[in-house]
Amino acid sequence: AKKVSKSDYQFYSIELDHAAELRIEQEAAIANALKDSEFIPYYQPVVNAQSFLLEKLEMLARWHHGGKIKGPESFISIAEEANLIDKVSYQLLFQALMDFSGWLVKMPKLVLSVNISVSQLVEPQFMATVLMLLDKNNIPPSNIEIEITESSLASNLDVMKKALIEIQRRGISIAIDDFGTGYSSLSYLKDLNFDTIKVDQKFVADLNENRKKGELALVIVNMAKSLHVNCVAEGVESQEQAKILAEAGCQQLQGYYFSRPKSKLDIDSIITAGLRI
Ligand code: C2E
Ligand code: CA
Ligand code: CA
Ligand code: CA
Repeated sequence: AKKVSKSDYQFYSIELDHAAELRIEQEAAIANALKDSEFIPYYQPVVNAQSFLLEKLEMLARWHHGGKIKGPESFISIAEEANLIDKVSYQLLFQALMDFSGWLVKMPKLVLSVNISVSQLVEPQFMATVLMLLDKNNIPPSNIEIEITESSLASNLDVMKKALIEIQRRGISIAIDDFGTGYSSLSYLKDLNFDTIKVDQKFVADLNENRKKGELALVIVNMAKSLHVNCVAEGVESQEQAKILAEAGCQQLQGYYFSRPKSKLDIDSIITAGLRI
């Protein structure tokens, strides 16, 4: 074995200090961003696979900072570790539900889909707040869908199951996100009653290159069909992918081919112009 010298220890401890320092800085930055209301919701259209008309908006978190717009990879996991994810989510939801209630006046069937971390889902106070905000904004729970990622389901299946049943009892739909990327997809389908399955974009991407790899997306679409569960394919970037998925029977499509995630003002003009994106 390699002999560990004193200077190695010093090296490690300096490295650790740097990591810890960086983490503290990042957490402080998020706390500041909360204070300045820098987290804003963007929305990505989800369209009907046959008509290409707008049916749903997925809310995606953005951080507006110093003239730049940063994506969720730069703050969601840090916020989760710092126990600030609740506050970040409330800030986003508060804004999103106000935006959405305006759009519902023109499009009463529009659905808003929201990504929720598992830690929040199992917390009763969180759902109570969401229901209160829906009520305050006159939004029927049936116009809301909650997306949870498949990989996050792994822990605490029993607690999770109870929370999901309660959410659905209130009229909110549940979507399983990134389907096919976790390890026990099929057993979750048996245990939990999802309303929607979202085919992960990596399977959709495979629909171009290689016939055999592309088959996986179609297997998931067909499985959703046999289970009578709504199917959304995400990451659709080409007309060909859209056509293959629609023909296979996937009901809804989402991706850059139709639209990138957009600001509230951009969605305002889409809805005013009348559903074409
Ligand atoms: P996700 O839920 O799987 O969201 C889809 C991601 O794919 C989004 O990235 C979206 O911008 C991107 N995307 C959509 N269409 C296409 C396409 O055609 N091609 C490609 N290459 N990408 C596409 P984004 O906005 O960076 O979000 C990343 C992840 O962060 C989301 O993955 C979601 O898991 C998480 N996230 C976003 N907002 C929130 C939030 O408010 N709360 C929580 N807990 N997580 C969030
Ligand atoms: Ca999602
Ligand atoms: Ca996804
Ligand atoms: Ca994802």
